[in-house]
Amino acid sequence: MNVSKRNNPLDLVFVWALVFIFIGGFFTLSGCTNRRSEVSQRFDDSVSQNQAASSYADWHAAPAHSEKVFSTLLSQFNRGDVTSKDVCASLADMKIEDLTLFENEIRSTEMQPLLGDCDQEVKGRLDAYWQSFKKTDEKVETKEDQAPKEAPAPKAETKKTSQNLEDLSHIHYVDVSQGYFAVTGDLLPGQVALTFDDGPSRETTPEVLEALEQANVHATFFTLGNAVRANPEILKEVAAQGHSIGSHSTTHRCLPAKRICEKQNGYMMSVTDAIKDIQGGHQAIRDVLGWVDPFFRFPFGESSPELKSFLQRSGTGEFYWSIDSNDWRARLPDGTVYDVDMMIDNVMKELGQRKRGIILMHDIQRKTATALPTLIQKIRDAGYELMVFRVKDEQIRYQSGLLTAKIFKASQTERVGSR
Ligand SMILES: [Zn+2]
Repeated sequence: MNVSKRNNPLDLVFVWALVFIFIGGFFTLSGCTNRRSEVSQRFDDSVSQNQAASSYADWHAAPAHSEKVFSTLLSQFNRGDVTSKDVCASLADMKIEDLTLFENEIRSTEMQPLLGDCDQEVKGRLDAYWQSFKKTDEKVETKEDQAPKEAPAPKAETKKTSQNLEDLSHIHYVDVSQGYFAVTGDLLPGQVALTFDDGPSRETTPEVLEALEQANVHATFFTLGNAVRANPEILKEVAAQGHSIGSHSTTHRCLPAKRICEKQNGYMMSVTDAIKDIQGGHQAIRDVLGWVDPFFRFPFGESSPELKSFLQRSGTGEFYWSIDSNDWRARLPDGTVYDVDMMIDNVMKELGQRKRGIILMHDIQRKTATALPTLIQKIRDAGYELMVFRVKDEQIRYQSGLLTAKIFKASQTERVGSR
């Protein structure tokens, strides 16, 4: 019996199989842990680089910018080096305010395979977070609904008559025939202009439009050609509500031949290519709407004398800003969470100091979409008037000088003053 037991080959196979399963399991587990910590590290780098960034350009150029992290993860996923479980485990461990940094990637259809089963859960967490900033308004509405007898005249009607389409006093007409460069845009003390860059977005622009419509405010949008071509129906909604629409380039590349832009793009862009990128943004809007406002805003606010001169010669107004909402931030450099309420407070603080100005926001940021109803109310409560930029000669909307202008040589540049 002993002999037969010792020599039974089936027993040996069984023992070795157990050993292999154990070793294999150990390596699978440790491989899993390594992959997860690698994914978590990528997200951590992104969060800390957003925190450390001193400007939007700085954040955009960061090696671990959210777009770059997600596209790297997608390539790894497609190669089988990373699973959606690894990504989901890392996202589940993340603080919600940091998770907001990745919202646009989380919501893009391209990235959906990467999120696998946690797709709905992660989006639900984000929705609940943004909703938490809206609770105060809802409570007020409920109270009013419950006590209709004591409620004063409906607020919505008061708002609608305060600044409607027929009332032209909130339009700030701009003459671009000799060039125009706006930092405060000649706005008078007590006047504020809301501006929105980088859209239109299917996810967040409708919420921005809803907030503007509810408050009966008109704003100036600087859209991206690529986003316009991807979401033409959203652009039509922006136009239908009476907002002004200028462009912000085609691709959001940093346009001038400067070192800071070389760092952003990975190469030095020629003036010709930069002008093609500017014209492409304008062309996209005109293709969809049949018109485009002769307004342009440089991506990252980075310009050059050559490009400024081109805008001036083509009768296009250049818009900068005087109050930055920093809506792309998750945290301040000292680590403080930069949430919706803090963004509103910071904008109001800056406005209190400057008494007027152009506010820079992004309609691709849910922070801005969420903040907007309260921000508009606070701006009005503080006694400011909300203005929209409109070209003086409406015909120029249909005859874009920017699309037909020739590219001038650098030697022909001129200085353009600021307003
Ligand atoms: Zn931008």
